[in-house]
Amino acid sequence: MDANSSTPLNSYVTVYTDAPPAETTSAKAAASFKPHEVAYNDLAHDLLVRAWTHFDRLSREAGDACGVRRQTHWEASSLPKEKQPYFSVVEDVQLLERPHVPGGYAYGWRYTTFFIDTSVYLPWLLGQLSRKGGEVVYLRERLDRMEDLIQLPHPTIFNCTGLGARSLCNDANVYPIKGQIAVVAPEPAMDWSISADGFYVYPRRADTIIGGTTEPHVYTETVDRAALGLLIRAGRRILPHGLYQMSEHACRWNLTPGLDQRGRVAPAHDVGSSDK
Ligand SMILES: Cc1cc2nc3c(=O)[nH]c(=O)nc-3n(C[C@H](O)[C@H](O)[C@H](O)COP(=O)(O)OP(=O)(O)OC[C@H]3O[C@@H](n4cnc5c(N)ncnc54)[C@H](O)[C@@H]3O)c2cc1C
Repeated sequence: MDANSSTPLNSYVTVYTDAPPAETTSAKAAASFKPHEVAYNDLAHDLLVRAWTHFDRLSREAGDACGVRRQTHWEASSLPKEKQPYFSVVEDVQLLERPHVPGGYAYGWRYTTFFIDTSVYLPWLLGQLSRKGGEVVYLRERLDRMEDLIQLPHPTIFNCTGLGARSLCNDANVYPIKGQIAVVAPEPAMDWSISADGFYVYPRRADTIIGGTTEPHVYTETVDRAALGLLIRAGRRILPHGLYQMSEHACRWNLTPGLDQRGRVAPAHDVGSSDK
């Protein structure tokens, strides 16, 4: 739950969880602002507009401190790509062609959207919650059944359990999507990001994320080296120098886990998602 809401209810918010923010799926997100894996209908549009207004306010009021920033993003492709419905929500949308598209791609939609650096954003949210009088209760065990939720001593309960909702709510429509990314050294000069041909490069303050695989209904969190190799090769089109360094780090990581903080390869993670 976003504890930054200006509603007076803030002081009464209690978050129940079995894991600290750094261990959630949210901590592993890349995380760009655009709809993904969801049918674009009126509801999705309305949520997107509200979320845009919210992140716009956060980025203006809290700036770097909250880890939310506006950034130029490219959706590049080798073949022409249709205008997307969410282009009416993001800003400064333009279609450009080679040679004005990074990576030598033939086509590129360029627009401004939000990026959320979750390593900054999640601790910031926690700070906001505590500053406004809310609290976090760390559970020894997960809540097992809906009855456990209903018995909590609160008049209103928001269920934000992500993939955990599959078993908590006995809802088979919620399933995992396994996503693998590589986390490499920061690119301080790169003030834009790109997704193209199924991969993406997202610079952040302390690192750069090269993504990403998506495997629906896969529950394992094991690293797939073949997928990692593909990411590294694809990423070279955008960052030839940075990725040369990364592939060294990747090899070292595979042989000796946890060697260094800068050029590490992130393990695969499960992504909670709703079936649409
Ligand atoms: C590699 C990767 C890249 C991604 N990139 C993007 C992106 O660019 N943009 C984007 O929008 N999304 C992205 N995502 C998806 C995004 O991370 C998730 O959709 C989002 O984090 C889900 O948030 P959540 O709060 O619903 O769930 P979570 O972050 O999983 O939080 C759920 C919380 O509920 C707790 N919980 C669960 N079950 C129980 C229970 N039974 N009892 C008590 N507590 C429970 C958990 O411990 C956790 O604290 C990415 C994901 C991955 C893995």
